[in-house]
Amino acid sequence: MTNRLDDLPVVVIGAGPVGLAAAAHLTERGLPFTILEAGDGPAAAVRQWGHMRLFSPWRYNIDPAARRLLADAGWVVPDLDVLPTGGQLAADYLQPLADLPALKPHIRYSARVAAVTRLGVDRVRTAGRESAPFLVRLASGEDLHARAVLDASGTWTAPNVLGASGIPAHGETAAAAFIEHALPDVLGTDRDRFAGKRTLVVGAGHSAANTLLFLAELADQEPGTSVVWAIRSASPARTYGGESADALPARGAIGTRLRAYVEAGTIELVTGFSVHTVASTSDGRVEVSDGTRTIVADRIVSATGFRPDHTLTTELRLDLDPILGSTRALAPLIDPNQHSCGTVPPHGVDELAHPEPGFYAIGMKSYGRAPTFLMATGYEQARSVVAALAGDWTTARDVRLDLPETGVCSSNASPDADRIDGASDGGCCGTTASDTAVPAGRGLATGISGGLLSAPLTLLPVTTPAGGEQAGGCCG
Ligand SMILES: Cc1cc2nc3c(=O)[nH]c(=O)nc-3n(C[C@H](O)[C@H](O)[C@H](O)COP(=O)(O)OP(=O)(O)OC[C@H]3O[C@@H](n4cnc5c(N)ncnc54)[C@H](O)[C@@H]3O)c2cc1C
Repeated sequence: MTNRLDDLPVVVIGAGPVGLAAAAHLTERGLPFTILEAGDGPAAAVRQWGHMRLFSPWRYNIDPAARRLLADAGWVVPDLDVLPTGGQLAADYLQPLADLPALKPHIRYSARVAAVTRLGVDRVRTAGRESAPFLVRLASGEDLHARAVLDASGTWTAPNVLGASGIPAHGETAAAAFIEHALPDVLGTDRDRFAGKRTLVVGAGHSAANTLLFLAELADQEPGTSVVWAIRSASPARTYGGESADALPARGAIGTRLRAYVEAGTIELVTGFSVHTVASTSDGRVEVSDGTRTIVADRIVSATGFRPDHTLTTELRLDLDPILGSTRALAPLIDPNQHSCGTVPPHGVDELAHPEPGFYAIGMKSYGRAPTFLMATGYEQARSVVAALAGDWTTARDVRLDLPETGVCSSNASPDADRIDGASDGGCCGTTASDTAVPAGRGLATGISGGLLSAPLTLLPVTTPAGGEQAGGCCG
């Protein structure tokens, strides 16, 4: 049985940046693998936010093993100081990586994983567990066997709900046709859905902020376009950040532009609003209520963050942190109340291990609901876990992360620039302030899942005024 297990491939779920990095490391280690990707090509999630500019430059977005394999194939490294868009990340790096002869035959597209378990062993049974292969079931019903499983499926497909209590608001599911998830391409391919329409944006993170800025630009261009922004807190202070005094220059610049649009009335702000009910109206619009007040709109953008989907792995023995949904060992290292993305310490196989030997979540999903994830961190996770699978525990445990505290989580590049120069004065942690205006589309992109709270929210019908100020993580 042991020999049989060793002969099986490692299954990687997801051909995003981290799943493909794992494939590069598996290739270098000579370990057989299969990548199962739900989309019809690599980087399916990244392509969906392809219109957004990343906040970290190329130098932090390329996995070292992937770079070595690509270099051997004659790939020309992009300018390392440039901030690519999601589309450029996919087209200029992830697609060529997935197309390498060493990877391509081992990637299956349109292969959505529905469940992972152990062959013939449910979660309760202990005898023979460790020697049983993993059974990976695809949505098509096909079963595959694996010696180990790396879940790099991200969180993009599991957005948080509108309902303020973490479960769908009344009527939210029935009103799904009116609801967009984070970061629609408002000025590009999705323009028609918003032009001349009234859009409600719900959320207080940077996904909300970026979407609001795009919509405000659209309102300037297209008559009849209007924007309303609902937040749970009593104040938009966290979304505005410190503006010109913000330690995060990009965040401050986004906040300054957002405040200007709110003060000019282009964006109508509704504070202390917790979504309770969503319903369609008889004239084809949608009505959102907090139990007392009602907002009517044509569309809703739900920018309330993301959560990991653990339903794939309910038959595995996972040790999940009760708050974040990461492993319990990882949770204190990534806690968004304590860490920004640039201060997360290096971590690897030991922090990612579950009681289920051979199963690891890596990449965005490994962080659960923490919005502090960076690709560079995921690449180091992939390197460490693959080294452990190869039996090279010394290398696996020698975890390093070469992330400066500045210049990686955000940028203070000049307006319309797509590169950062002098990274030492730009970035998320302990940087100098800047009042440089940064165009929409750059900045901190992931949503806030209702966490990162240092003060109570206004939860109607509670009458006590909320503090409103909230601590913000770097990437949230
Ligand atoms: C707008 C935005 C901007 C960001 N900017 C930066 C940045 O500048 N720098 C940075 O370091 N990080 C950034 N991030 C954070 C993070 O690095 C990215 O989200 C990154 O794409 C995460 O990589 P991943 O491989 O873990 O997951 P993903 O990119 O989400 O890839 C997961 C893959 O798994 C597939 N999949 C999902 N479910 C299944 C299933 N059941 N079966 C099979 N396949 C499945 C998906 O189709 C997808 O291709 C940003 C995130 C967002 C949303």
